[in-house]
Amino acid sequence: MASVKKLQDAPVEGKRVLVRVDFNVPLDGDVVTDDTRIRAALPTIQYLVDHKAKVVLMSHLGRPAGEGFEAKFSLAPAAARLAELIDAPVSFASDTVGPEAHKLVEALGDGEIVLLENLRFDKGEKKNDVAFCEKLAELGDLYVNDAFGTAHRAHASTAGVAALLPAYAGFLMQKEVETLSGMLENPRRPFVAILGGSKVSDKVGVIDALIDKADTIIIGGGMCYTFLLAQGKTVGTSLKEEDWVERAAQMLAKAKDKGVEILLPVDTVVADAFAPDARTETVSCDAIPADMMGLDIGPETEKLYAAAIAQGKTVFWNGPMGVFEMDAFAHGTKAVAEAVAANTDAATIIGGGDSVAAVNKFGLADQMTFISTGGGASMELVQGLPLPGVVALEED
Ligand code: ADP
Ligand code: MG
Repeated sequence: MASVKKLQDAPVEGKRVLVRVDFNVPLDGDVVTDDTRIRAALPTIQYLVDHKAKVVLMSHLGRPAGEGFEAKFSLAPAAARLAELIDAPVSFASDTVGPEAHKLVEALGDGEIVLLENLRFDKGEKKNDVAFCEKLAELGDLYVNDAFGTAHRAHASTAGVAALLPAYAGFLMQKEVETLSGMLENPRRPFVAILGGSKVSDKVGVIDALIDKADTIIIGGGMCYTFLLAQGKTVGTSLKEEDWVERAAQMLAKAKDKGVEILLPVDTVVADAFAPDARTETVSCDAIPADMMGLDIGPETEKLYAAAIAQGKTVFWNGPMGVFEMDAFAHGTKAVAEAVAANTDAATIIGGGDSVAAVNKFGLADQMTFISTGGGASMELVQGLPLPGVVALEED
């Protein structure tokens, strides 16, 4: 991947800097219930304040219709939370590119901050509409993108506007791209990738790409049953994608050709229903009962996976090992999370919405080297797909 232009090389003093942040935070009424994404943008915002820029922040929140203001998707609570976190006033424009936004941007002194209302109240945002891009560009002299989580979308605020102003990557964006591309291009070896989650069909690009990069691939979660089918086993009523069995078999063959070790579960926790109070049993993967479904990896598999994880110098994890949302099927995911956390010799990198939620649930987040803030964006980057929001920041 070509390198991106960096915020620290931008002449920001006294300039209006239009910054795309990811303040797509969960709300309960007008309270931000998880401010992780706001905190993740603080280094960039603080740098701009310290370097006397006029800071114009923009973000989306949720999925409004794109027909104008909707109270439940207002970014006003995010402005209030940012003001607390950064311990400075943050003015809030009740429109995005309208008269109020212009008035507040013109009133900004050096080192002062304004947040614009939700970009997606305007349908031009998701359409990457030229007129909307031009209106955004009127509010800045320079553009900074720190919203890695939306970098896989070619929207006005992530792609179009970057062509109209000098464009730079913020610190979060730089860290995400450097960490994930570094892992792919130049990993310390052995490189162990742990892949789980629900479906093979969702992750086929990621698995395939990692077979080209990693030394060992550990497979768990719902997708492992399709791989077990590809090995000629029976999997009862487990999640299975018959149409993907052949593709799974091809990937196993490709890995074998390349000398990449693929680990599949040897035992599994099966249940008679997809329910927290289902009747459960631990069985060998060679003997999954016809009327039961696998919802977690078993204890022998946990040991096998923990031993492989301990060997890694680079460990990447995407996708839970079981239905971790239910306590009865969370044990395998927790064991893997603990094994990753325990490998303090390795660069440990977590990507994907549910995997990050699992690491947080088990209280292990601060023991990982890096937790990506972008679920979909990190998966696209790992697959080697160009991210429009990153391409727009590349040096010529
Ligand atoms: P991520 O968001 O980390 O990329 P995914 O979205 O691919 O992960 O998968 C997460 C989902 O996979 C979780 O909701 C989890 O319950 C589900 N899952 C894991 N194991 C199984 C299984 N054995 N059967 C069905 N669903 C599973
Ligand atoms: Mg998910």
